[in-house]
Amino acid sequence: MHELALMGDILNIVENDARQRNFQAISNISLVVGRFSNAMPEALAMAFDMFKAQRNTLLSEEAELTIIVEEASAMCPFCEMTYEPTQRIAVCPHCSMPGGQLKTGQTFQVQSYDGS
Ligand SMILES: [Zn+2]
Repeated sequence: MHELALMGDILNIVENDARQRNFQAISNISLVVGRFSNAMPEALAMAFDMFKAQRNTLLSEEAELTIIVEEASAMCPFCEMTYEPTQRIAVCPHCSMPGGQLKTGQTFQVQSYDGS
């Protein structure tokens, strides 16, 4: 489950930032997770709960993880139509040409976090 490592990295980044702001506890972390980002929201939530249970983080007992799923979109280089690809090899529904370029869907980043 590589989401455990991903979540560990996220917590490191957020905690470093939170310490610089003299936060005592983190109550919420919002993540943007693209449909094609290779991270499963369910597994991220599970990893978050595991770190929270370890009690050696800045996460408060009630801390919550908010996951904002970013839908995938691709643009066809031939007819310039934007569409929602259903797989990694994006085939244009308009002209049936492959090679669509992903515009969104690969994001994996912290959008915001709250603490005090
Ligand atoms: Zn096309």
